[in-house]
Amino acid sequence: MRKHIVCLSFDFDAMSIWISRGMTTPMPISRGEFGVVGAERIRELLARHQITCTWFVPGHTAETYPNAVRAIHEAGHEIGNHGWTHVSPLLMMRDEEEAGLVRANEALRTITGKYPSGYRSPVWDMSPHTVDLLLKHGFTYGSNGMAHDYLPYRARTGDVITLESPAVFGRTTRLIDIPVSWSLDDAPHFEVVRTPNWIQPGLMNANLVLENWINDYLYMTRLEWGIITYTFHPYCIGRGHRMMALERLIETLISKGATFMTMHEAALEYDRRVPFHEDPNPDVPGRGVTS
Ligand SMILES: [Zn+2]
Repeated sequence: MRKHIVCLSFDFDAMSIWISRGMTTPMPISRGEFGVVGAERIRELLARHQITCTWFVPGHTAETYPNAVRAIHEAGHEIGNHGWTHVSPLLMMRDEEEAGLVRANEALRTITGKYPSGYRSPVWDMSPHTVDLLLKHGFTYGSNGMAHDYLPYRARTGDVITLESPAVFGRTTRLIDIPVSWSLDDAPHFEVVRTPNWIQPGLMNANLVLENWINDYLYMTRLEWGIITYTFHPYCIGRGHRMMALERLIETLISKGATFMTMHEAALEYDRRVPFHEDPNPDVPGRGVTS
């Protein structure tokens, strides 16, 4: 059945994204604090259009701004795990990564009354342990990979990737990965980030970026079905001209027949259309999709 699903996702990093980079002076902290302002604007916009979606919330944000996170939950949105702070899993030992995952889970459960079913890595990157830890702790899906643009796939664990040899793919697991893309993320287009080693210039014209975001949805409608995931950050998309772009994006998607879902709902839709089966061979993203 033809169906074109849109997952709007909001990574409510607040100040944690800067703390994780050692940036704790008033400027970056206040920049993160603006995320609370942005989150409220976004919540109102979504309510106006009766859209529920997914917010990935670090445990640090949940415990720093419990009222803001509770308001999101009470508005009917899904709350996903975004780690304890914003530290990359690549920088942690397995036990540290697991401790952060569990600590964030508990912080979110305090607010929502249940453990999250979805996880998004703070940097979209996963350690060799991430998939195993997500399965161990009962997650249904992750949203970290980029191996397809419109179709989820099952996450692998145990790949062996070296320069001198062909890739050796590991085991395909039950965990569903709902893919993401830098082009469908607000932050690289808009945010100025300066570190000692590099500068991300940002500050793109929001209308030009909006055109890309709409066209990526329209291309998907050539397929029988698919899921497109947009990633926004309240501290970034919450500013005036970007909010207007987000508003126009939502209005356009509605006019073009989009079905809005939380990522948990989208994962269940994928699971129903493409049931899991143990497969000793490397998974090809999108394979097995027939309807
Ligand atoms: Zn984040």
